[in-house]
Amino acid sequence: MSRIVYTNGTYVPEDEARVSVFDRGFLFADAVYEVTSVLDGRLIDFAGHMRRLRRSLAELSLPSPADDQQLLEIHRELLRRNALNEGGVYMMVSRGVADRDFVFPPETTPPTLVVFTQSWNEAKSPEIETGLKVAFVPDLRWGRRDIKTVQLLWPSMAKMEARRQGKDDAWLVEDGMVTEGTSNNAFIIGTDGHIVTRALSNSILHGTTRASLLRLAAEQGLTVEERPFSTDEARNAAEAFITSAGAFVMPVTEIDGVTIGDGKPGPVTRALRRIYMEEALRTAI
Ligand code: PLP
Repeated sequence: MSRIVYTNGTYVPEDEARVSVFDRGFLFADAVYEVTSVLDGRLIDFAGHMRRLRRSLAELSLPSPADDQQLLEIHRELLRRNALNEGGVYMMVSRGVADRDFVFPPETTPPTLVVFTQSWNEAKSPEIETGLKVAFVPDLRWGRRDIKTVQLLWPSMAKMEARRQGKDDAWLVEDGMVTEGTSNNAFIIGTDGHIVTRALSNSILHGTTRASLLRLAAEQGLTVEERPFSTDEARNAAEAFITSAGAFVMPVTEIDGVTIGDGKPGPVTRALRRIYMEEALRTAI
């Protein structure tokens, strides 16, 4: 069965959806996106995704295609039309259609809005029990990684390099320090039990899952250090994990060929995943 997707005000079968070749998302990667996870047919942390979307749009002076309530209705309508229970909703906003020019088109140019569902079941992923293997790959992305643009070529190339090495994903490294994963935030837990993850800046995406996880960890009385950590510190960690809307809280059990802990997901990571999943389901809309 073909999906129903949303493009600029209409719900159409996916093979009938069209975007112009002059769309600035296509020509300049002049577009931002969000991926909201779906569990039990409900949206996880929709408000967090909307906050970040608003910030990304503002940072790029990109016009908004709709208000939060309208976007929520589009998300829900797509879940309904596609009978999606587990997976995600991808939403992309570009600066619209204009003749190719580095200068932005007039602000009155209507933005392009594309929204579609994807079916997956990460909540039952086998890696929850085995953990992920990550390779280090240099972070060669641009300097505004805090804006969630569709410019994803280096993360894609880094993931391919990790796969070439037989690993699941890459942790990106700049000046000897880990920034984040290709599509997730990176965390380690030191032998002192402290959770360490890079602080928010232009160097990383401000993860919605990261924000929830840090709040829940603090509520559990765990110590969180928001600071850069080195590749050596990562290799010597007691536990490690990643967070993202797609993977929630996912253990990492091998970093750069080094087994982390006893090679199984650690107890703190497991507890944090359980607490995160409970909270996500409790607050889903
Ligand atoms: N970092 C990067 C580079 C990402 O692409 C993503 C998600 O796509 C994340 C972190 C995690 O963000 P979130 O938890 O909001 O999905």
